Amino acid sequence: MSKIAMKTPLVEMDGDEMTRIIWQLVKDDLILPHVDLKSDYYDLGLKHRDETDDQVTRDAAEATKRHGVAVKCATITPNAARVEEYGLKQMWKSPNGTIRAMLDGTVFRAPILVKGIEPYVRTWKKPITLARHAYGDVYRNVEMRIPAAGKVELVYTPADGGEPMRELVHEFAGPGVAQGMHNLDASIESFAKSCFEYALATRQDLWFATKDTISKKYDHRFKDIFQDLYDSQYRARFEEAGITYFYTLIDDAVARVMKSDGGFIWACKNYDGDVMSDMVSSAFGSLAMMTSVLSSPHGWWEYEAAHGTVQRHYYKHLKGEQTSTNSVATIFAWSGALRKRGELDETPELMAFADRLEKAVIDTIESGQMTGDLARITTLANPQTLTTEGFIEAVASRL
Ligand code: NAP
Ligand code: MG
Repeated sequence: MSKIAMKTPLVEMDGDEMTRIIWQLVKDDLILPHVDLKSDYYDLGLKHRDETDDQVTRDAAEATKRHGVAVKCATITPNAARVEEYGLKQMWKSPNGTIRAMLDGTVFRAPILVKGIEPYVRTWKKPITLARHAYGDVYRNVEMRIPAAGKVELVYTPADGGEPMRELVHEFAGPGVAQGMHNLDASIESFAKSCFEYALATRQDLWFATKDTISKKYDHRFKDIFQDLYDSQYRARFEEAGITYFYTLIDDAVARVMKSDGGFIWACKNYDGDVMSDMVSSAFGSLAMMTSVLSSPHGWWEYEAAHGTVQRHYYKHLKGEQTSTNSVATIFAWSGALRKRGELDETPELMAFADRLEKAVIDTIESGQMTGDLARITTLANPQTLTTEGFIEAVASRL
């Protein structure tokens, strides 16, 4: 049997820890035997990011602009402990943050539903797709440790030489902390646009929420931009499609989501999306069953798993112990990227392969073969718990 050809490459971004191990297994056992893979490879493992002063992350994002489609492995976002563990030159920024800022897209996350893995929230019958604004706020902040008494101010200096604007942040009587955040009308607009378009494309209602009652300028700007765009460009199309745009306060949204039956897109500001996507994906069964795609208004796509590098399992693996780490979201990142590559290049064989790969994964789980995270929560009788490698082998033989 000859392998499926690719007309153009996709960008491959390797990563860290347990997901790096899974990455290689998925490629070797599921992709390379069937596809003549053309990939433009970037090693975003923390060691290599440090060696290149994080240039490799920016190169990978630039390559995504050239090729249009990327698949990314989970990566470590360094904290103080990681700086010590890896002997880093500095505490490099989140690669996802850097890439998202360069591509200026919106991240859509949706759970992979399989029979036998029932959501913890009894009312949820349909997937909840979470859209996370991918620019700014705390992810692009600047921070200060305030050593002692003194004044912290916010100062805007107009580029055209006008009068500066000042706001007192706080008059410190002693040590403390302060931070400055920003966002851009253009980025909020493109976020709103992606969400309205995605809602229309998938015929789902769109919810959006902020804390505009407390944040009367910052969050209120988000609310106004969404509403203006909806009124001027989307209201008629939404009515025609029979879907709605719904705005409420973030705490009200959280309460309503818990009582809903799903089947809508929940647009969130950057931080809300980070936190809520972890809650929603866990409640749908497992963090490892959540897909994630960054879709940019320029037509660039980056696919990844929503979860991290599964550090705890990696340390077990290093000690030579068996692991049972779920590779489903990583496999779906690959299938998503290959399908998009096939769609853009008009290679239906590649798209069909992506479908077969996903079906093999779902059939394997529904037949009772799964990793420990799913075996613990499945409603199927007598599930078989497989190791990290064993699950991928089971999918491979079915494929
Ligand atoms: P994590 O890697 O998502 O794992 C958190 C916990 O969730 C795991 O310990 C495990 O629970 C469970 N889990 C997550 N994925 C799983 C999978 N595929 N199979 C089975 N169980 C899974 O988050 P973390 O441990 O907080 O973060 C580790 C590193 O990942 C950090 O350095 C962080 O910076 C990075 N991170 C990267 C990304 C990204 O690149 N997109 C996203 C988030 C975090 P049990 O231990 O109970 O089995
Ligand atoms: Mg998160």
